[in-house]
Amino acid sequence: MKTIIVGGGIVGLSAAWALKRAGADVSVVEQGALPNPLGTSVDQHRLIRYPYGAQRGYLRMVREAYHGWERLWGDLKMRFYAETGTLVLSGAGDSWAKECVVALAAEEIEHLAFDAEAVTGRWPMLVGDGLEDAYYCPSGGLLFAEAIIAALSSHLRERGVPLLTGKAVAALDAEAGTLRLADGNGLRADRILVAAGPWTGQLLPDLAPVSRPSRQTIVYLQPPAEFTAAWHAAPMLLEIGATKGFYLVPPRVTRDGMRTGLKIGDHRFGPTADPGGDREPSAAEIDAILDNARHRIAGLEGYRILQGKTCFYDVEPEERFQFRRLGARGFALCGTSGHGFKFGPVLGEKIAAVLQEKEDFDAAARWAAGHVIPDHIIDVPAAASDSSG
Ligand SMILES: Cc1cc2nc3c(=O)[nH]c(=O)nc-3n(C[C@H](O)[C@H](O)[C@H](O)COP(=O)(O)OP(=O)(O)OC[C@H]3O[C@@H](n4cnc5c(N)ncnc54)[C@H](O)[C@@H]3O)c2cc1C
Repeated sequence: MKTIIVGGGIVGLSAAWALKRAGADVSVVEQGALPNPLGTSVDQHRLIRYPYGAQRGYLRMVREAYHGWERLWGDLKMRFYAETGTLVLSGAGDSWAKECVVALAAEEIEHLAFDAEAVTGRWPMLVGDGLEDAYYCPSGGLLFAEAIIAALSSHLRERGVPLLTGKAVAALDAEAGTLRLADGNGLRADRILVAAGPWTGQLLPDLAPVSRPSRQTIVYLQPPAEFTAAWHAAPMLLEIGATKGFYLVPPRVTRDGMRTGLKIGDHRFGPTADPGGDREPSAAEIDAILDNARHRIAGLEGYRILQGKTCFYDVEPEERFQFRRLGARGFALCGTSGHGFKFGPVLGEKIAAVLQEKEDFDAAARWAAGHVIPDHIIDVPAAASDSSG
């Protein structure tokens, strides 16, 4: 049985990896290069962490995700990961940290409560004013995203998986199992998986409402010399508020000499735009990101802006990943809503199991959407809010 995957981001490549591992005949069609710098999966890093607000299903999936990454590291013969720990902060009136701690306690994930003084004592580059809740998890860290996509692509090529780059799929017929490429050529498969990230709605208009391309700005900064060492030892930071908030990825130098920068972003969703369109962030977009973090980072105006970047989320309104059936031969995985990278390998394995009819589609779709099994729900806080990364 031949499978064609549309899209060489973390979802498509992970599904190809899992299918190939299971002995299947699989190819990937990617409109850009691999890694594609415009893809959602391609930046220096993506975060993996347990604090997940009230989204208990995804918190649980993080456990599975760590196992999935271990299987992938085994095949790649290298780990593209740096453990940093996770610091969750909340100002007055924001509930995200409180929701996190209820879930972390229920799921027995190690975490410690800090007060504002302890936070600024341990991390002097932070400001404690207005801090209501602070929790630190020793777990959580950085997945070196672009390096992972590059290594996974090389691994698949070495294993004989055709990766057709620079080939855009213009249309597909999921009943017949045919794809039409933009260059006029056609392809045929027994199974088609669309893993097109924020381009999903362009190829499959029916899925546009659950895969809105949302323009997100990130900013790379160089901290002042006095704080460089402290940032290199700092955890990731998540201060997620209803009206204001940010996430911060600390810089690292890995044992293999990989250097990654200090990055700030805002998980709240941006305006809808064409992911193939203009990517230059405006000065106002960069300022808005810095404004969100100014209250928490001491002397932020002294940090040098190295780069502003635009990246695209594909947003499902409740941030639930959508695993959909398309006709007799097709499937799509979309709506990863700015938090899907960490689950790449386990999503790939789940998709592969369904395509090979080893697992039930409906159960897999519920799992991907982060629905917890009812008799495992304990004290789910009322308001589900957003999460970072
Ligand atoms: C700023 C930012 C921060 C994030 N932070 C985190 C984080 O900390 N933790 C986390 O877990 N997740 C995070 N995410 C989300 C995560 O990166 C995404 O959920 C994940 O990368 C989505 O992968 P994908 O494979 O679905 O999409 P993509 O990586 O976008 O891959 C889709 C691919 O399909 C190709 N394609 C599209 N249409 C066609 C076509 N018609 N023909 C051929 N090829 C096509 C595209 O070129 C692209 O390469 C973040 C996202 C952003 C933007």
